[in-house]
Amino acid sequence: MKQKTAHLPNYAPASSAIQRESSFAGTIPVERLPRLAAALAGPSGLLEVDLQIGKEMARPPFLRGSVRGELQLVCQRCLETFGWPLQANVDLRLVENETDEARWLQDYEPYLIADDRLSLHAIVEEEVLLALPLAPRCSSCALPLEPAAGLVGAD
Ligand SMILES: [Zn+2]
Repeated sequence: MKQKTAHLPNYAPASSAIQRESSFAGTIPVERLPRLAAALAGPSGLLEVDLQIGKEMARPPFLRGSVRGELQLVCQRCLETFGWPLQANVDLRLVENETDEARWLQDYEPYLIADDRLSLHAIVEEEVLLALPLAPRCSSCALPLEPAAGLVGAD
């Protein structure tokens, strides 16, 4: 069983984490991620994060994993706040300079390491922001919205 109750560290040392192919599992309270909290109906909730670093031949090391949790969103149809089940994937390539960043940009999502550290919270926050729905719908408003074709324009 993986230990998931620990908080995910905000930062990890990049070179040693890559060297050891480290994995990181832990939680981040939503309230610790200000940009994300500002995009939600409320700052409650806990993200469960699972990340793995791995090395590959002839490619930059990867940082992969998943983020889960329940986020407070406002339904764009009924304007009620509801718990939206988040399931986001992380799939980055760790590069050390801008030349490599440009080189791998075509095929991967590069993450440029600065000061030999991985900003784990910032990485998670960015991926979760990208995963948020543009027009959230609660489960009771998620039913098909278009009326049946035969009921429209039958004149
Ligand atoms: Zn709704």
